[in-house]
Amino acid sequence: MAEFLITSDNRKILHIDLDAFYAQIEIRDNPKLRHVPLIISRDPSESNGRGVVATANYAARQLGVHSAMSAAEAKQLAPNGVFMKPNFQKYQMISNQIHQIFHQYTNKIEPVAFDEAYLDLTESVLSGATLAAKLRHQILKEIHLTSSVGISYNKLLAKLASEFNKPNGVTVITEDNVLEFLSILPIASFRGVGKKTQEKFKVLGITNGEQLRRMSQEALRAQFGKMGEHLYWQARGVHFGEVKWQRQRQSVGKEETFDRFLQTTQEINLEFEKLVTKVILAMSKRSFVGRTLNIKIRDSEFNTITRSVTQNEPFKLDKHILISIAQSIFDENIDAPFSIRLLGLSFSNLQSSGFEEITLF
Ligand SMILES: [Mg+2]
Repeated sequence: MAEFLITSDNRKILHIDLDAFYAQIEIRDNPKLRHVPLIISRDPSESNGRGVVATANYAARQLGVHSAMSAAEAKQLAPNGVFMKPNFQKYQMISNQIHQIFHQYTNKIEPVAFDEAYLDLTESVLSGATLAAKLRHQILKEIHLTSSVGISYNKLLAKLASEFNKPNGVTVITEDNVLEFLSILPIASFRGVGKKTQEKFKVLGITNGEQLRRMSQEALRAQFGKMGEHLYWQARGVHFGEVKWQRQRQSVGKEETFDRFLQTTQEINLEFEKLVTKVILAMSKRSFVGRTLNIKIRDSEFNTITRSVTQNEPFKLDKHILISIAQSIFDENIDAPFSIRLLGLSFSNLQSSGFEEITLF
């Protein structure tokens, strides 16, 4: 049988999913909870049986508890389980910390949920498997949480891969093993196959990816319409969706207006020092470096000048170097005596800082 494969897709797409995120965080912060069934939900006995399970740890899952189940049902399955109200503020904060790690690898990040994202790592020189290992290790070391990662050449396969080896696993799908991987996949694992479609496939005698791939495009279309068309390509691992990331901002900077105008070099120096510290922090938080440094100066008469310095390589985020550049731009452009009402400092031509060292002090 002739197989159609797209072999020109050499992207590196990673899908990451933190394992039982909310439950894992609560266990991290209170290890006594590890061996009891933990259900992140309001306790049904305190809320008249209302409430829905946000997530549950693996001990609770073994008893049949799963997310989106009613808390009352979970209580029946796990009568000795611990119910804990979700603390979304905390989860959001930890999600932000994890995203700061993502940004060290790429800014091409598509968040799916607090605990789930796609990263486009095509530009990295490292292999997919190495990137997955590094990222997982870093999250474990710095945030103390495990994750499951799938890596492949498109989003569909990356997602299927991360689901395949849960919890705390890595799956790499390449062109060499893609058909093998898809062949054994249960039909319900393909995107868009719900209970009804699954039943229909069962009647047709189709329960896995290999059988799905044997169906012709025409037959699939006849049976399932547009969904059938999608499934034809899914069975071959073909998917062209892009990682939808937020275009990075044009510049990062700060400016300061002074009620009492600055009139001495010492005052200018001190204010540049404050600005540089703030901007370095803002850049570091977002894991950016910039090739252009912009300085803005406005005097008491509202004359404003902006000056920029562009380098081939990004500026090192070194406080002393940046203050001295800002100071010399000031000296070159402003004659004494002066009276300054505003100073600004920003970076543009931004790029991801990757693994470059950041020197804060
Ligand atoms: Mg998760």
